Amino acid sequence: MKLNRSAIVNLLFISLFLSLHCFSLGQDFDFFYFVQQWPGSYCDTKNSCCYPTSGKPASDFGIHGLWPNYNDGSYPSNCDPDSAFDKSQISDLISSMEKNWPTLSCPSNDGTKFWTHEWIKHGTCSESELDQHEYFEAALKLKDKINLLKILNNAGIEADDGFYELDEIRKAIEEESGVSVGIECNVDSYGNSQLYQIYMCVDTSGSQFIQCPLLPRHRCGSSIQFPKF
Ligand code: 5GP
Ligand code: 5GP
Repeated sequence: MKLNRSAIVNLLFISLFLSLHCFSLGQDFDFFYFVQQWPGSYCDTKNSCCYPTSGKPASDFGIHGLWPNYNDGSYPSNCDPDSAFDKSQISDLISSMEKNWPTLSCPSNDGTKFWTHEWIKHGTCSESELDQHEYFEAALKLKDKINLLKILNNAGIEADDGFYELDEIRKAIEEESGVSVGIECNVDSYGNSQLYQIYMCVDTSGSQFIQCPLLPRHRCGSSIQFPKF
């Protein structure tokens, strides 16, 4: 078949349009990191912390975020400038978010700033899979699925300012969950390495824990503190 010049120009325009369109929608990612933080370790660094306006959070891990990631370790961020955080879309989730996703940053606030940041930076990059309500609900359901504190306590690892072997912490969570986990430490005001965040990998639907294609590289001491909160 012979194409005349205008047909070729049309085809070129169509493919240009399609590629631009797909590119702008193509917020593909390979998996999520589901990241939980230990409040005691956020609060006892040099920077300290502020309790949210709803009061001191429970002595439990809190959600930090659900972050789309690529298998090579890179990740997309701030994917949709047109998608604002809209509290009215998740009004039914707010009381659970206050409990399970509390903010500890200063000055004291109701959490909207933290949730907005997480939506804008990370949530907008998984919009092809999860809308705003689904995104926050997915994170809350994941936290419900895995009770990190209970798992650690059952293994004799308590938030008592004691020091525990990093491998012992890892082993307890991996044995119970069946998947690999990443552990991030930070440093308290005395310079002790302590348990700060736990990373788990989740499929792109945001519902199943999976073996991590790649664990984030964080440095911890071989023995780390688990601070009281
Ligand atoms: P930091 O530099 O403190 O480790 O991370 C700062 C922020 O960068 C995190 O809160 C998160 O928003 C983002 N971030 C850091 N590491 C990763 C990662 O491995 N994957 C994704 N998706 N985001 C990350
Ligand atoms: P990231 O980009 O690291 O996902 O998000 C961290 C941002 O959220 C920082 O700007 C930090 O100040 C803010 N933020 C608010 N509340 C919290 C909190 O409780 N924990 C952490 N890690 N960051 C918080």
